[in-house]
Amino acid sequence: MRRKNAIRKRIIELIIQSVNIAKEGNIELAREYVKLAVMYSRKGKVKIPLKYKRMFCRKCYTPLIVGLTERRRIRSKILIRTCLICNWQRRYVLTRDKRANKESKS
Ligand SMILES: [Zn+2]
Repeated sequence: MRRKNAIRKRIIELIIQSVNIAKEGNIELAREYVKLAVMYSRKGKVKIPLKYKRMFCRKCYTPLIVGLTERRRIRSKILIRTCLICNWQRRYVLTRDKRANKESKS
C-alpha cells in the first residue's frame, strides 16, 4: 500500500506541474506531464483522484484551464466543458450536493 501512496503522490505532483506549465504557455510539455501521470496510474494500478482527473482532457491529455484550453458553458443545470485543443466535450449535471455530481458520458 505504501508503494501505491507514493505513486499517487507522484501522479498528483505531475498534474499540478502540468497545469502550471500550461499556464506558462507550454501546452506540448504540459501534455507530456499528464501523459506521464496517466502512465503511472495505469502501470501502478493507482486511480487518479477525481479532483485531479477533472483537471485534464481525457482525450488529448491537455490540462484544462478556463480561457486558455477550456471553455465552460452552463445550460439548464448542465455544465459543459469543452477542450479547445481537440474539441472533446464533457457534461456534468450540477446538483446542490457536490458529492452527488454525476458524470455522464457524451
Ligand atoms: Zn482535448
